[in-house]
Amino acid sequence: MGNRLLTLTQGYLNRRTPGYMIFFVTPFCDCRCLMCFNREVIDNAAHRKPLLYEEIEKIARNFPGLHHVNFSGGEPFLRKDFSKIPQLFYEHSGTRLFACPTNSSHPDRIIQAVREICETCPDAWIRITQSIDGIGEDHNAIRGKKGLFDCVVKLNRELDLLKKDYPNLSVGMAMVLSQLNEGKEYDILDYVHEHFHFDDFGALYVRGDTHDPEAAKINTRAYVAFVEECRRRTDQKAGAKSWTGKLFSAITHRATDLIMESMLEDRYVTPCKAGKNMVVMDDEGTISPCEVLDHFINTGKSTLDSAVLGRMRENDYDIRKILDSEQARKIVKHICDSKCYCSFECAMSVNVLYSPRLWPGLIRHLF
Ligand code: SF4
Ligand code: SF4
Repeated sequence: MGNRLLTLTQGYLNRRTPGYMIFFVTPFCDCRCLMCFNREVIDNAAHRKPLLYEEIEKIARNFPGLHHVNFSGGEPFLRKDFSKIPQLFYEHSGTRLFACPTNSSHPDRIIQAVREICETCPDAWIRITQSIDGIGEDHNAIRGKKGLFDCVVKLNRELDLLKKDYPNLSVGMAMVLSQLNEGKEYDILDYVHEHFHFDDFGALYVRGDTHDPEAAKINTRAYVAFVEECRRRTDQKAGAKSWTGKLFSAITHRATDLIMESMLEDRYVTPCKAGKNMVVMDDEGTISPCEVLDHFINTGKSTLDSAVLGRMRENDYDIRKILDSEQARKIVKHICDSKCYCSFECAMSVNVLYSPRLWPGLIRHLF
């Protein structure tokens, strides 16, 4: 634990490169969720050229101080060599926090991969978050896959067993609140608390260009009330957490406070650090500040002409070259000057981590 804290602190203090990256590790997915914002990529996955393992290794070698990697996709565990990728960042970038959402579609394969990640990154905190958007057939219909709910149940049971072997493993559950499950959210919350094992359960606000445009139409006040209830129930249930788990929860809670404030009043609440302290890398190595800016450009909410900071394959796999480019500087400045704001949870968590003026609220949640 001492080593983890030291490495995390070194990563945090290194401000030349972002400390947080969301990595869309594969474009392939075996679900077809109605509220997915990445459907265009997923539907064209066969035509894409995902980064090879050797290319990811080069990226990791050129990315010092990357304390947190959040994998995404597609379904990350569908990538055959996925279980070997965290180790690259663990060894070369000093990463000590890995988070990975999963649709739970292949429990046996996922358990094997999680075990391997826990073994090869023993000093890292590893967080697996299972998606759950409904009970039984409702979940299968929203996620576009038969039998998926049974996989969620099986994986949850097995992850709970695995946690006994690996204290560095944490299990979360998350629900995307959309029009597809609005009205049933409290039943889902009750069900989840009764039947599943987890460290945290949270609700995410549907975002981006959803495949079914109706899915994004939800009542903000209902969302805010539900988030508060999720938090209250999770806090009640909370057992002994590691210090990393406590800090992670406190950051998430503080970020959610700010998102709720911003959404209820439809206003900017704090400078966004996306592009500076956080970046998103897609499966082909294209770097952007976040997952939302492109949607803002497409809908006219942002006056930028592109959200692309640069491409790893054109910059010797070196994040520093990309961030030093004129294009990257222009986008980061625009985000700051335009007081860009949105409800993206990961970006807001990074804002909390890198904005000391937000820490009093963070400390309140921590204790
Ligand atoms: S599981 Fe995730 S990536 Fe796959 S379709 Fe659903 S939301 Fe999209
Ligand atoms: S406020 Fe949202 S859309 Fe704007 S840069 Fe930050 S994360 Fe992206």
